[in-house]
Amino acid sequence: MTADEASQRAPWLNPEAVATAAFMPEDGFIDPYRLAMAYAHSARMQGAIIRQGVAVRDLRRQGDRITGVVTDQGVVYAGCIVDAAGAWANRLTLPLGVGLPITPVRSQYWITAPDPLFPRDHPMVILPDASAYS
Ligand SMILES: Cc1cc2nc3c(=O)[nH]c(=O)nc-3n(C[C@H](O)[C@H](O)[C@H](O)COP(=O)(O)OP(=O)(O)OC[C@H]3O[C@@H](n4cnc5c(N)ncnc54)[C@H](O)[C@@H]3O)c2cc1C
Repeated sequence: MTADEASQRAPWLNPEAVATAAFMPEDGFIDPYRLAMAYAHSARMQGAIIRQGVAVRDLRRQGDRITGVVTDQGVVYAGCIVDAAGAWANRLTLPLGVGLPITPVRSQYWITAPDPLFPRDHPMVILPDASAYS
């Protein structure tokens, strides 16, 4: 879209500062809690057992394969282990000499009072050059 079209959708955007703009009308918003619950429900329907409040302390390795996890409630062995510990994922793999290409980055958040510049149907605006979004 043109810079003027972009600033019509995001009135605070300075069109003179826009070199390239794209609009993704099919992108959506989703409630993260409900999404996680939907995944959990589907997993249970497929026979998964979900155990909450269990801390993984260590990974068990045999040769070059991870064969299990050591938790604060015992060891669990499996044919396949998924490290989904988010920003903490490296803490589990680094002791094995495996570094994952992710790193936590500190962010700043501003929450404003209602402002007509940001109407309810304001699209999410991502500014890659500034590593910022609104
Ligand atoms: C303030 C904030 C706002 C955000 N807003 C958005 C947004 O609007 N839209 C968007 O798309 N993304 C947003 N994100 C990013 C999004 O939350 C993350 O990208 C996403 O949650 C990552 O999912 P994940 O499952 O990889 O990790 P996480 O959601 O971080 O889950 C990792 C889980 O592993 C657990 N864990 C870690 N170590 C262990 C261990 N040793 N044993 C057991 N459990 C462990 C943690 O407790 C956690 O529950 C936001 C992030 C933050 C912090």
